[in-house]
Amino acid sequence: MILAGLQKNSFIDFPGKISCVLFVTGCNFICPYCHNADLARGDYPARIESTEAIDFLKSRRGMLEGVAITGGEPTLDSGLFNLCRSVKSLGYPVKLDTNGSRPGVLRRLLDQQLVDFIAMDIKAPLDDYHPFCRNHQIHERLAASIRTIMASSPAYEFRTTCAAPFVNEAGIETIAKTIAGAACYVLQPFNRRAVCLDPTFNHRQDPTIFPEAMQRFKSLAEPFVKRCMIR
Ligand code: SF4
Repeated sequence: MILAGLQKNSFIDFPGKISCVLFVTGCNFICPYCHNADLARGDYPARIESTEAIDFLKSRRGMLEGVAITGGEPTLDSGLFNLCRSVKSLGYPVKLDTNGSRPGVLRRLLDQQLVDFIAMDIKAPLDDYHPFCRNHQIHERLAASIRTIMASSPAYEFRTTCAAPFVNEAGIETIAKTIAGAACYVLQPFNRRAVCLDPTFNHRQDPTIFPEAMQRFKSLAEPFVKRCMIR
């Protein structure tokens, strides 16, 4: 498996752990605000063999506490299973970032105990994914992923990047109801300085959700989930 790259250590990508981050290239979504545009388009320049990443992880045993696999959308790559297996065989817990579009892959990863933590993005109410994905069956796929993660993942979180015009108070409440009972829901303010997949996104309108509105989102979501935080 070819990886787009590797970040040797991170304090933020695997909650509670010092982790190595592995980047998988390619994505089936077109989120206008995507910060990883090169990765999403699949044209990220630096590439390494997963065997190199495994060698690095071997050398860091006892120093790193986990491995985060992100993208792009890692579930699109059929090499993900072997990658997770190799990482787990070194004793590292695996955290997977996903857009939730491939519930069958998530189910198989969980059945084979190849992931320990799943972070799934929920970009908008499930009926409102047109700006992010053109697949007309995406609603059912996302709902299936949510069910699978909540039922079977050893640890997980759902995350929403809060950017106008994609989320508002009603939207956040709808999402929170969709994941009712979830262990953790994370609200992330959009970082306006970043370069986006749609280069015009930042210029067409102000996508910023200000801190007062973020707090309001949090208070609307909190009654439906066990834990809600702004990160
Ligand atoms: S933000 Fe959207 S386009 Fe970018 S990697 Fe994630 S799912 Fe893909």
